Amino acid sequence: MNNNIDNFDRDHLWHPYTSTINPLPTYKVASANGVKIKLEDGTELIDGMSSWWAVVHGYNHPVLNRAAKAQIDCMAHVMFGGLTHEPAIELGKLLLSILPPNMNNIFYADSGSVAVEVAMKMAMQASISKHKTTRKTNFVTIRSGYHGDTWNAMSVCDPVTGMHSLFGPALNVRYFAPAPSCRFDDEWDDNCTTELEDIITTHHDEIAGLILEPIVQGAGGMRFYHPNYLVKARQLCDKYDIYLIFDEIATGFGRTGRLFAWQHAGVMPDIMCIGKALTGGYMTMSAVAATRTVADTISLGEAGVMMHGPTFMGNPLACAIAIASIKLLLSNDWQAKVAHIEALMKRLMAPARNFSNVADVRILGAIGVIEMKSPIDLASFQAECVKRGIWVRPFGRLAYIMPPFIINDEDLTTLITQLLEIIAPE
Ligand code: PMP
Repeated sequence: MNNNIDNFDRDHLWHPYTSTINPLPTYKVASANGVKIKLEDGTELIDGMSSWWAVVHGYNHPVLNRAAKAQIDCMAHVMFGGLTHEPAIELGKLLLSILPPNMNNIFYADSGSVAVEVAMKMAMQASISKHKTTRKTNFVTIRSGYHGDTWNAMSVCDPVTGMHSLFGPALNVRYFAPAPSCRFDDEWDDNCTTELEDIITTHHDEIAGLILEPIVQGAGGMRFYHPNYLVKARQLCDKYDIYLIFDEIATGFGRTGRLFAWQHAGVMPDIMCIGKALTGGYMTMSAVAATRTVADTISLGEAGVMMHGPTFMGNPLACAIAIASIKLLLSNDWQAKVAHIEALMKRLMAPARNFSNVADVRILGAIGVIEMKSPIDLASFQAECVKRGIWVRPFGRLAYIMPPFIINDEDLTTLITQLLEIIAPE
């Protein structure tokens, strides 16, 4: 019914991970407001995805719209090489007030994947500068991770669910510890970090950095793991002179119930990536924060500078919207909202645990995951979602929701009720 496939779109536009010969259906959006996505034929969908973790305040928010319009009338963009501007400075100050207190230097980038590239380059440059060798330049990470689609980011994605089988021979070979076996709510088990410890103990003289998504592994499996894993990771990095990189691109800005996921463990990284919800989902922008030690070690190295500088670095429009988005978040009792969403999800999603086709149901913050026993057929699942007025995009065996924080109880109840009806065994 709502399958308004425009021939041009189907014949000429690539969508994420989509075949040009046999593309999955796309639904044409006319507008979006609050938690509702309106299709061209008038159908309204309750958004369960926040457009991939980003739209925390909902769509078409008056405060963010105002910030965007005001900045456009001043300047939409200006290069960051040799120039600076108030939105970049104000955003930097705001970020340093909410990021881990050991962070000091901020690098603005243009997407999550690029932030990961920059973070890995930072660790590599700092390591070369500190150890005066190019030998300690590899990375260790954990299985089931996802860090983006660019070359180095791919190399640290899960080798099975990621793109290693396709790009394998061309990707740098990284060290992979198993995904943390200790779940977020489990009793901590020291054995959870044994393999990570073994790898680091054996190969530390080749390893510049440990990169991971703290607490919540997103697109690599939607897994929630124990905070003590991060405590141990920090200890190992300190002991063996390895930079600890937290990829908080998905977990940042309240999604897990803390403003940033590192706070669940109280463990600070040396380098941290943020993106997605940074601009409330309005603009593509990311940032990499580093400690003064990391930054200065890079500057004392042979190159003397951080070797990266994208065209749209520090884009004023994105900065202005990010400032408005963060202020809006902080002034809106986000913590109570996320806790409320979490409680409602826990109650309403619980019945799915008894479905014969469901392997697991897990909820943390404003993230609700239903893991099925077998893969979900994306096209028919989404057609059913649209028919029922909700927007959920599963991957593999995972049907998950992470709605905008502004969602009300009625819409969240409809979203979950409809989702459960779709997945319920016949
Ligand atoms: N890291 C994580 C943890 C992510 O979830 C993503 C995006 N799904 C990325 C990096 C890559 O971000 P982007 O798609 O903006 O390049």
